[in-house]
Amino acid sequence: MKISNILCVLLSLLFSTVALAQAPVSPPQGHPDRTIKVEPFNIVDNVYYVGQYVQEASYLITGSDGHIIVDTGYDESVPEIADNIRKLGFDPEDVKYIIGTHAHSDHVDGHARMKEMTGATILASGPDVETIETGGKTDFRDGDWRPVKVDRVVEDGEVIRLGDIEITAHYTPGHTRGAMSFTMNAVAEGQNYNLIILGGVRIAARPVFGHPKYPNMAADFSSTFAKLKKMPVDIYLGGHGYWYGLGDKMKRAQAGEGYRAYIDPEGFQKAINGWQQQFVDQVVKEGMELVK
Ligand SMILES: [Zn+2]
Repeated sequence: MKISNILCVLLSLLFSTVALAQAPVSPPQGHPDRTIKVEPFNIVDNVYYVGQYVQEASYLITGSDGHIIVDTGYDESVPEIADNIRKLGFDPEDVKYIIGTHAHSDHVDGHARMKEMTGATILASGPDVETIETGGKTDFRDGDWRPVKVDRVVEDGEVIRLGDIEITAHYTPGHTRGAMSFTMNAVAEGQNYNLIILGGVRIAARPVFGHPKYPNMAADFSSTFAKLKKMPVDIYLGGHGYWYGLGDKMKRAQAGEGYRAYIDPEGFQKAINGWQQQFVDQVVKEGMELVK
C-alpha cells in the first residue's frame, strides 16, 4: 500500500467520527416556499417574521426605544418588508438598527433602501464591512449588489442593546468572512428560551483549503461548527426558512401550537451536523486530491 493510500484512509477515519446527518436542502425553483407570500407574524415574544417568503427570511425585533431588523433581503424586497412591518402595527421609521446575518445579496442587498426608508444605523461584523461597502465586489465569490456604508462595527460576543432589546452577536465565519449568528432570551408564558438566528454555515466557495481569496476558510468553518455545537438553543431560526423547516412550523403554530412549534433544539443540532458533514466531506475530498 502506497503512503498516499494510507493517508487517504487515515483522513477518512479521522473525519468519519462526525455524526452522519443531512444538511437542510434549498427548495427547488417554483416550490411554494419560494413563490407564496408569507403574511407577517409573531414567532415568540418580541420577534416577528417579516420576510416575503419562507425562503427569504427577515426578522423584526421590537423594543421600547425602536426596533432592529435582521436581514433585509434584496433591494426590491424592502417595500414589501416595510409593508409587513406596518401590517403588524409597527412603523418602519422606528427601525433603529439594520443588521445582516452575512454579506450575501439575499441578506444585505436591501440594506441601502431600508436605510433610506428608516434612517436606521447599519451594523456589521468587522470582516464583512468591506464586502457590504463594495456591494460584494471584494467578496471571495464576487457579489454584485447595492453598496452601502456600514455605520458601526459589531464585535464578536458584543451585546447589541436598544431600549429593552438585548441580542448577542457571535462571529460564525466560513460561509462569509464575517458571517454572524444572533442569540437572545425570549420569554413566553413565564419561561425563558434561548433563541438563535443562525447565519450561513454552508460552503459558499471551493476549495475550502487554500482558497486564494479566503485562505482561512477551513479553519474558520472548524471553529464555527465547534462554537455552534456548544450553544444552548431552544428556539431555532435562521437566515432562510428552509434551514429550520419554517413552512411546516408555521402551519403547526397556526394550528394551535403557537411559539412552541419553533422550539427545536434537536433540529438545530441536526442541521449543524448536516452542514458540518458537508464540510468534512469536502475536506476529505481536497485531502485525497493533495495526496494523489
Ligand atoms: Zn449566503
